[in-house]
Amino acid sequence: MATASTVDRVSKLSGLRADDFPEEGLLERMPHVRGKLTPNEPLGDHTWFRVGGPAEVLFKPVDEEDLAYFLAHCPIDIPVTVIGLASNLLVRDGGVPGVVIRLGPQFSYIKVEGAMITAGAGALDLNVARAAQASGVAGLEFLCGIPGTIGGGLRMNAGAYGREFKDIVEEVHVLDRSGQRRTLYHDQIGFAYRHTGVPEDNIFIAAVLQGEEGKPDAIQDKMREIQKSRAATQPIREKTGGSTFANPEDDPQKRKSWQLIEAAGCRGLKIGHA
Ligand SMILES: Cc1cc2nc3c(=O)[nH]c(=O)nc-3n(C[C@H](O)[C@H](O)[C@H](O)COP(=O)(O)OP(=O)(O)OC[C@H]3O[C@@H](n4cnc5c(N)ncnc54)[C@H](O)[C@@H]3O)c2cc1C
Repeated sequence: MATASTVDRVSKLSGLRADDFPEEGLLERMPHVRGKLTPNEPLGDHTWFRVGGPAEVLFKPVDEEDLAYFLAHCPIDIPVTVIGLASNLLVRDGGVPGVVIRLGPQFSYIKVEGAMITAGAGALDLNVARAAQASGVAGLEFLCGIPGTIGGGLRMNAGAYGREFKDIVEEVHVLDRSGQRRTLYHDQIGFAYRHTGVPEDNIFIAAVLQGEEGKPDAIQDKMREIQKSRAATQPIREKTGGSTFANPEDDPQKRKSWQLIEAAGCRGLKIGHA
């Protein structure tokens, strides 16, 4: 269900080979931040598929202020890529040049007020669904089946079982490449099928999600149903991309992605560790 464009974008960014990354060069150009900057960090430890070469530098900001400061002072010629759980990314063995940002615990908060939920972009979709259920907020059950973060879900307009982020997002908070914070309301987000029109260099830091009043037991039942159906149709505990490709909208025979993959003889195709 995810789009290939994400993968393409990272592939393009990853044109360099790991041993092309100089040992020190980039670190010396990094602003002084409170968070952790790690050179040549293997991304395989941070991706759903457990594959991928190193980030030239991995940055884990400690909070929003730290991230904003970093963006404001990181030289503009250095590419910046943000990742969530990386369940929609296939990182090349060549790694990712520039800085890869991973949002940590300070970005994983979930606050419930009535039927409105504010979640940090690092919060897991599953945890947001659970928090909604515990507080009797209905309409967010589909999040329990998506193995990602709120940030990744916003970028992808992720969805399942007839609902997607578009249906629950009231507003989002972003930092742009210069570290400026902005609020974007629903109609400014440009939601489309597994795509959001927010500029690629904007980093989501939080979202305000709207549900509706519901009964915790009924919400729980719906989540169980979703998880049961997933377990029956998709081996979600495997490191598989089987369900992650966006279905083409313009195939004359209206074939689904898996049918095209099979027709191309690519079922089970393996290159390196991918
Ligand atoms: C087994 C399996 C099942 C899946 N099922 C579904 C499904 O039912 N429906 C569905 O829609 N998808 C599905 N996916 C795809 C994937 O889980 C979703 O796209 C998910 O929302 C990705 O979230 P993530 O945090 O892992 O994002 P990542 O994969 O880390 O990143 C995805 C994109 O979002 C960007 N991004 C991540 N965080 C931020 C941020 N804070 N700010 C700005 N950009 C950001 C990244 O740069 C990248 O472009 C599935 C994937 C797997 C492996």
